[in-house]
Parts: sequence; C-alpha cells; structure tokens
Amino acid sequence: QCSYYCPVGAIAENSSVREVNDLLHNKKGKIVVFQTAPATRVAISEEFGLEPGTISTGKLVSAIKSLGADAVFDTNFTADLTIMEEGSELLDRVKNGGVLPMFTSCCPAWINMVEKSYPEFIPNISSARSPQGMLSSLVKNYWAQMKGIRAEDVVTVSVMPCTAKKDEAKRKQLFTDSGLAETDYVLTTRELGKLIKLNDISFPSLPEIPMTIPSAALRTAYELGTGKPLPTLHFNPVRGFETIKEAEIDFNGMPFKVAVVHGAVNIHKYLKMIKEGLAKHHFVEFMVCKGGCIGGGGEPKSLADDYLQKRMAGLYKIDDFKELRKSHLNSSINKLYETFLEHPLSHKSHHLLHTHYKDRSDN
Ligand code: SF4
Repeated sequence: QCSYYCPVGAIAENSSVREVNDLLHNKKGKIVVFQTAPATRVAISEEFGLEPGTISTGKLVSAIKSLGADAVFDTNFTADLTIMEEGSELLDRVKNGGVLPMFTSCCPAWINMVEKSYPEFIPNISSARSPQGMLSSLVKNYWAQMKGIRAEDVVTVSVMPCTAKKDEAKRKQLFTDSGLAETDYVLTTRELGKLIKLNDISFPSLPEIPMTIPSAALRTAYELGTGKPLPTLHFNPVRGFETIKEAEIDFNGMPFKVAVVHGAVNIHKYLKMIKEGLAKHHFVEFMVCKGGCIGGGGEPKSLADDYLQKRMAGLYKIDDFKELRKSHLNSSINKLYETFLEHPLSHKSHHLLHTHYKDRSDN
C-alpha cells in the first residue's frame, strides 16, 4: 500500500549520489547549497557504526563541507516557518469559517495519498509548503539575491530521511517563476552516507561545525489567538483505535480538538471515520511512516530492536537544546518577516511559501 504513495522501490533508479558527487568535484562556477532535515542528523550516525540515537549535527555539517558544499542550511529553520504559516492559516480558518479540520501538509507521501485516493479532502490540507519546499524557495528566491548570485547559478541539495521527498521536488508547483526546480537533488540519509564513504571521509573523527543559519503550528495558532501559552496536551487513544491519538484544549472558550495519525493503515481508518461522521477534530497531523520521519524509507536500515526509540530520544535531546522553541519568538524568523516576507500569509509568503494540490485520482 505504502509503495503506491511513497516511491521507496525507486531508490536505486532515482539515486542522485553519482550526479551530486560529480557536481561537487567539478562545480563549474555553481554555488552548491545543502539543507539537512532533523531526522538525518541523528540517523546518519548509524551509517558509520555509531550507536542509534547519537547526535551528529556538527559532524554532518563538517562532512558536507568537506565534500565541497558552499553552505549547509538547517531545515529546522523552515520547519519553524512552516509552523508560523500553517498556524496562521489554522487561526484564519477557525476565525473566518474556513474548511476544517485542517490537515498538515509536510509529509509528501500523505499529499500523494490524498491527491490520488482522497481528492475530496484536498481543501482540508494546509497550503503551507513542506520545510524542504520553503527552504529551497528561500535559497533560490531570497538568499541568492541577498548574496548577489543568480538563482540559476545555485544548486540545492536536500538531505532527507524520506524517499517521497524526491517526488515532492519534481512538483511543478515548486519551481521558480522562471521554471527552475527549487530543489535540484534530494539525497536520503543512506545516500549521503554512501557519498561520504565514496570520498573516504572518516565521519566519526570529523570536527563539529555549525550550520549556516541558526535556526508547532498548533502552538503558534493557540498563542497568537489567545495570547496565552499552549497548555500541555494530553494525547489519548481515540475510542477503539489504540494507534490514533487525540487531545482537547480550550481555545477562547471553544473546545478545540486535535489528532495525530501516523502510518498508512491508520490514515485510511481515520479518513473512513471522518466520512462516517465519527471523527470531529479541528486539526490533524498526518505522517505516512509509523513513528514519523525517524522511520522514513531513506533512513539507515538497523538491526537493533529499539533503534526507533533511540533515534527519537536523540531528536528530543536536540529539541531540549533549542533555545527558542516557539516559532513566533524565533528572532531569525521574525527578521525574515520584517525584512522580506512582511507577515504570515502575506502576498509574498503565499507566493514563495505556499502551494496548491491537484486531483490525480485519474492517473
Ligand atoms: Fe517522508 Fe515518512 Fe516523514 Fe512522510 S513520515 S515525510 S513519508 S519520512
């Protein structure tokens, strides 16, 4: 079922390891910019024999710079921006009677599933691009301008836990106005491991280097809408569905219900419940991989029993270290809005950070 939406079987044919390697060895005047997703910086450790859950953020940046990249951006930066845009969209839908429940949009395998099998739910999906889509757009449409580089001279390489991100990068909605792909190459965590090994870089002994830029929608919507911090959410299984979780909060006197649905089988069950009128949430997070991106199709294959829990613990540790966890307080994000994007859902934000979806049930 998953392979229909998430092109896991296409890894061998779609691998860009050789092309990216050739590019890095002969850049022909191009500026090569990488971005790396949070799940990658934990799982890459396992490619080099380190314990599952080991945080390798700085070594990852070191390795990518040693390969010849000019800059390494943190996808967490636009994960925060996605949350700002998605949170503002949720608030707007709640206040102005928009389509609810609103569904998250960051998992491309989930988007494929809706476009191919459940097009009737397209209006429910947030129009906010995924963090990969937002970062590539900003690199080609903003960062390049700031640096005085032509967008066509910038090549973007994204390192993701996910094979479906390769598919996302090809969506025409995510090309620049002049027809350039905003994300040129997507490497999975495993493929980046191959590239590092191909170049005989000793990963475990690399120094730690920071990313080029330092761096949740519901939290932002709640705090912008009520002026109060989001209380701790207590997720409980939906009655009769151990694996589908829900929580409820008071939103200015209105009971606001959220749900989290991970795994393709659970998604099918949940959408059936909506159609039968049995699910009544306002906001739902969907991720096709069980446990989210740490279990993505592009992550290292592990033989350890508890590798997912260990990767998760590593990610939580990174989150604990993050100084400003609330997106609307993130000073880099605020600066970007002040100097360029104006405000969430502005005309510019819509143009560069949002997208649209298509009914593909016929093909
Ligand atoms: Fe990709 Fe899986 Fe994460 Fe979805 S949940 S974005 S398919 S790794």
